Amino acid sequence: MIARLYAQGLSQEEIAKKLGVHQSTICRKLRALRVKARPAVRRSHPSLIAAVLAQAQPGRPNDCWIWPGARHGFGYGVITWKQKNYTVHRISYEHYNGPLVGGLHALHKCDNPPCWNPRHLYAGTHQDNMRDMLDRKRNPYIRRRGELK
Ligand SMILES: [Zn+2]
Repeated sequence: MIARLYAQGLSQEEIAKKLGVHQSTICRKLRALRVKARPAVRRSHPSLIAAVLAQAQPGRPNDCWIWPGARHGFGYGVITWKQKNYTVHRISYEHYNGPLVGGLHALHKCDNPPCWNPRHLYAGTHQDNMRDMLDRKRNPYIRRRGELK
């Protein structure tokens, strides 16, 4: 039932409301059913990229586009949209280069965390990111899990 509703495109929040249970219950049940979670909002959602472009304009093609707004953790640009935080470089990557699937992260070739120029981003694993960071002697503190969407 839950899996079917989820497959129909209802969000976990909507299913929780419909069934009168807490969202965490839905989340747990879906995990137990091995249903792959999808982001609450697709990062390629036009309103999300529009919110980014309302705060900053793309720079020249080869320059780093430094996010002028809020920063988070390692210095990544963050935008709050509908009460949730999103990393700007990830929105940018997905908007210009296509969706990040299979748990891949948008990583910086330029080693400049607030940069959101999609040409400076590539898709890689969390391990790639940690390795690059250590290679480049970036501050290796551990990002708290689940904090960023
Ligand atoms: Zn850059």
